[in-house]
Amino acid sequence: MAQPHILILGAPGAGKGTQSANIAEEFGVEHVTTGDALRANKEMDISDMDTEYDTPAEYMDQGELVPDEVVNAIVDEALSQANGYVLDGYPRNLEQAEELAEMTDLDVVLYLDVSEEELVHRLTGRRLDPETGDIYHVEYNPPEDPEVEGRLEQREDDTEETVTERLRVYRENTEPVVEHYDDEGVLERIDGDQAPEEVWEDVKETIEDSV
Ligand code: ADP
Ligand code: ADP
Repeated sequence: MAQPHILILGAPGAGKGTQSANIAEEFGVEHVTTGDALRANKEMDISDMDTEYDTPAEYMDQGELVPDEVVNAIVDEALSQANGYVLDGYPRNLEQAEELAEMTDLDVVLYLDVSEEELVHRLTGRRLDPETGDIYHVEYNPPEDPEVEGRLEQREDDTEETVTERLRVYRENTEPVVEHYDDEGVLERIDGDQAPEEVWEDVKETIEDSV
């Protein structure tokens, strides 16, 4: 059987990265994430694309969306090379959802539903291990190893001010995407307010039932 094509939707901080890592390991698919891809290419020169700013960094540091042209190309390339994937961070607006429909078919569309108050708390407390890419939280999921704790980093856009803007951008641009898949009848809503292990149980079961 071909490896599954999985889309994971949710607000910034909903737990998409955390659950995508579980999915990639359990189902042997590639984790395709536009956030990580863009962070790795933050200083890329996009001035020839007739965009407002010359690099992705200038959009990301303000919590704004990087132009579709840039992101669509990244996703198209990554999906064409993946044998099964969990796609995280895309589509973030209806135009990107249309593009995605042209590129690939989806076996399951998951939506992690998390309350807004909790999102702010999760994002401002998020920390990353630069060596492994593992995701931690100062309160909910601190590392046990003091050496790991010592090297943890905070993302530049996980400050309270940028988080507020990212959530506004999410409501305006990405909530319609969630509604779009809901209207199509393919959206699998997961209670993302639960503890990570409980969310994972629901995610795993939903994927197993869908593919
Ligand atoms: P989050 O943890 O908030 O879900 P991501 O790591 O997915 O954040 O994204 C970080 C930033 O990268 C976004 O605020 C945005 O600037 C940019 N970005 C990521 N994915 C996209 C996308 N599909 N379209 C436009 N910009 C994107
Ligand atoms: P996203 O990729 O959707 O932005 P992350 O997976 O990076 O979200 O999670 C955001 C923060 O919340 C991280 O610090 C992570 O450790 C924490 N987190 C993820 N899932 C949960 C959960 N179910 N309960 C509590 N904290 C969580």
